[in-house]
Amino acid sequence: MKAQKQHIIAGPCSAESPEQLLASCKPLADNGQASMIRAGIWKPRTRPDSFEGMGKQALPWLKEVGLEIGLPVCTEVANPQHVEEALTENIDVLWVGARTTVNPFSVQAIADALKGVDIPVMVKNPINPDINLWVGAIERLRHAGLTELSAIHRGFSYYGQSEYRNKPMWELPIALKTWFPNVPLICDPSHICGRRDLIPRIAQRSMDLGFDGLMIEVHENPEVALSDAKQQLTPDAFHEMLNGLIIHTGDLSDPVIADQLLILRSKIDDIDEEIIRLIGARMKVAEEIGDYKRKNDLTVLQLKRWKEILETRGDLASKLNLSPDFVSKYLEQIHKESIRKQTDVMDQKGAENDEVMW
Ligand code: PEP
Ligand code: MN
Repeated sequence: MKAQKQHIIAGPCSAESPEQLLASCKPLADNGQASMIRAGIWKPRTRPDSFEGMGKQALPWLKEVGLEIGLPVCTEVANPQHVEEALTENIDVLWVGARTTVNPFSVQAIADALKGVDIPVMVKNPINPDINLWVGAIERLRHAGLTELSAIHRGFSYYGQSEYRNKPMWELPIALKTWFPNVPLICDPSHICGRRDLIPRIAQRSMDLGFDGLMIEVHENPEVALSDAKQQLTPDAFHEMLNGLIIHTGDLSDPVIADQLLILRSKIDDIDEEIIRLIGARMKVAEEIGDYKRKNDLTVLQLKRWKEILETRGDLASKLNLSPDFVSKYLEQIHKESIRKQTDVMDQKGAENDEVMW
């Protein structure tokens, strides 16, 4: 039995007109699939002279659509004035966008404007992969007295090539979940992917990782959308995506499931212990080598040897079906620690010799 239904937040990137909003959102409540409607009113745009949202006039459009279809509505706020205007129109839930979470002054100003109003607030991750800014934004809102907080993972900006608009870097939302186990974590595949064909894959991945819900951009006619046209789904594609999603409903309080998992986990415990003991043994040999290098006046870093390690271990890893990227990252860490230990051995012995000489 599934403990809780997923939160499914859907709606257009931006509110463009009352008609567009209603046509985009009305079908979302079908079969009870969406639990909340989203729409941007004030749009933070990277470049000027692009569509910056319909502003304040669109707040009543959004609220009325929510009332008509019987769902709560949410929008992004980026400053105290947005907060005040959204509260005046009785918007049900607010979210803090990625470009705001990066700036502690802006987050604090929003938190101050919300003092004494316990409205649910969702906090998107900052655009850069810095978990402390994400944690800090949640803490600032919490300190202002807000109790219904959740987090939205929308991927991270990076420089370079990738099929995603914003790299998922799943380890960061997982770390946030460890930090705040009771803060619901929602995935926003639309802004991660930047193109609609990738959305089902990322949505599924977030369900596999135990996320608590999804925020998906849906537009009645994405081709003509005024913002994020490439990533919005039609209402039909939205339903199709949700119907294809596997939501895991296994329950750890089932004793059979819990027992089987315990057996497998105890195997992992044994293997981890063995790995750590072996790493310890490897470091001891590295120290002996450090001592030997010192006595023979050799440098710690021997590039030829390092290349040979990468090649031979890389070959073994591919035979064992391990990802080359993972194995080279692991080796880099081990090598870094070996070098640190050997340098310590050299410095220490050097210091002892210095003392003798003096
Ligand atoms: C949005 O949700 O439309 C938006 C602007 O998102 P983000 O802050 O993730 O870029
Ligand atoms: Mn958008």
